[in-house]
Amino acid sequence: MIAILRKTASDEAVGHLVSWIEGKGLQTDVSYGENEIVIGLVGDTTRIDPFLLESMDIVERVQRVSEPFKKANRKFHPADTVVDCGHGVRIGGGAFQVIAGPCSVEGDNLIAIARRVKAAGATMLRGGAFKPRTSPYAYQGMGAAGLDLLREASEELDMPIVTEVMDPRDVGLFVDKGIDVMQVGARNAQNFSLLKEVGKTQVPVLLKRGMSGTIDELLMAAEYIMSEGNPNVILCERGIRTFETRTRNTFDLNAVPVLHHLSHLPVVADPSHATGYTRYVEPMALAACAAGADGLEIEVHDRPERAWSDGAQALTPDQFDRTMERIRAIRSVIAADGE
Ligand code: PEP
Ligand code: MN
Repeated sequence: MIAILRKTASDEAVGHLVSWIEGKGLQTDVSYGENEIVIGLVGDTTRIDPFLLESMDIVERVQRVSEPFKKANRKFHPADTVVDCGHGVRIGGGAFQVIAGPCSVEGDNLIAIARRVKAAGATMLRGGAFKPRTSPYAYQGMGAAGLDLLREASEELDMPIVTEVMDPRDVGLFVDKGIDVMQVGARNAQNFSLLKEVGKTQVPVLLKRGMSGTIDELLMAAEYIMSEGNPNVILCERGIRTFETRTRNTFDLNAVPVLHHLSHLPVVADPSHATGYTRYVEPMALAACAAGADGLEIEVHDRPERAWSDGAQALTPDQFDRTMERIRAIRSVIAADGE
């Protein structure tokens, strides 16, 4: 961290600041330039609040030199992380996976949808048993019974399951039920108690970006999970809220290469929640592949018009068949280009 001070700062004021910084256990390196005085802060800069430092009268500007996320940072872990999701499915470092299934687990149609998405080439099954709904009167999910249906489908089809955990008190239940991947949803992207709780397990976590979360906030959320001891984090771009109203969210595909640049963690993209409309899911799934996503999460429902949640963005199994074919086509072009 570097603090740039006004040239007019008195020696006494600079001395006070230096001893305040050193009092926090850091070392300082002061240099006097023509137009400003620069203090380099060396050591554990997490002990300093950069905003507090910047608010001081003699301080003009504070600049971070290194990012506050360490475990998620590619700088300290240059190789791509590959997360083992169980059932022989690994994601990251060139291993690409498609997670597909209904928004909500609703009952017996789950297994029928699961068979179709597997036949189309999806490698992981999704479905929410605990649903974060904007309205308390909307369908809230089947709860623990939904987890059992997911497990049955997983056993029959030998596929890992991905399902959302909303409450830190439920993490133990998810572990007991053998859930392969716990999803932390956009609405919980900064639920620090939940992030810490899933961080205490070794179960892979699909961490979605908050709907108004920055890329750095997503990485700091990953850092929460990793700092508790769970290195198995998969990042997910699912669209952010902007002024645009023609789609449910704005798919920030910039985030895919940016996250790859900043972090070694696998990056999944979710064109279903990012667009909100079936007609836009396939083109944006293809775009996400082209941008370098390590995987996709796509909602599929046998009868979208009857879905208990997110029917407007669901692909039918037939539509998903075609989308998977085109995903394979895009991926083969990218692979050929990389040779
Ligand atoms: C979901 O995956 O069904 C979901 C609720 O996603 P998000 O948290 O991205 O809105
Ligand atoms: Mn959904």
